[in-house]
Amino acid sequence: MKKWGFTTLIIILLLIIAVSKLVEQRSGSAESADGLIQEIALRSSGQSLQVMEEQLYTGDLLLVNSDSPIRPQGTQPDVTELFGHSELTGPASLLERDIRLSRGVALKFVVMVDAAANEGIEHFMISSGYRDELEQSRLYKEKGSDYALPPGYSEHHLGLALDIGSTEGPMAEAKEGKWLEKNAARYGFVLRYPADKTEITGISFEPWHFRYVGLPHSVLMKKNNWVLEEYLDMLEEKEAISTTVNGQKYEVCYYAPERLSELKIPKGRDYALSGDNRGGLILTLYP
Ligand SMILES: [Zn+2]
Repeated sequence: MKKWGFTTLIIILLLIIAVSKLVEQRSGSAESADGLIQEIALRSSGQSLQVMEEQLYTGDLLLVNSDSPIRPQGTQPDVTELFGHSELTGPASLLERDIRLSRGVALKFVVMVDAAANEGIEHFMISSGYRDELEQSRLYKEKGSDYALPPGYSEHHLGLALDIGSTEGPMAEAKEGKWLEKNAARYGFVLRYPADKTEITGISFEPWHFRYVGLPHSVLMKKNNWVLEEYLDMLEEKEAISTTVNGQKYEVCYYAPERLSELKIPKGRDYALSGDNRGGLILTLYP
């Protein structure tokens, strides 16, 4: 009797394993049929990395402008309210209580404004952060097409862009604006709509609008006076560049849709992947 009980137990266990394998396989094949672009073998390792179509429309380097609307997955997943969280605002004040931003970007913003405060520049005010399509549509109706983008086409939908003002006066003249214009790139932010690039961005000079793109991209853009449109065009053309920031070497590789199968990530390297919202993928290898 004892022996029979043991055999039954073994059979039940085997059945459970078989069923769970079957379920695993099914979900795997559903995934590949639905948006899996490439399964990529990591260089010198047996692991593989799956690049989902979604990856092409997420990340810090997405271009959102009047030609390139945001996709639903483009909004940073960690958008949060800033009010009541001094760790997310530092010495900056908030124009309104309901301002939201990516938590990760807010933490980078605090590092930046803390550095400014150490130099005696501390009258920053965040006047806008993440906007959903409803808020953008309200703004568009209120301000008109000369001053606002239609819903879906604003960088504010990403959670990576924010409008920073000064409580001391207009940003074009305030110390806060001048400090940011000069130093923001060191902290991963770029002045997104400079005065000399209005023909490329399609947006008039906005000394208050900053966009997080991360290192080393912000430093490269600032050094070469490129806006995001120009930077992505350059990456697409060169395909691979390397640069040294603060003595640390970064590599940036661009993969056009037809080259995605060539994507290689050296074993043990820290990296980030970002789409460009135009079908390409950018790999950043950190020092
Ligand atoms: Zn803005």
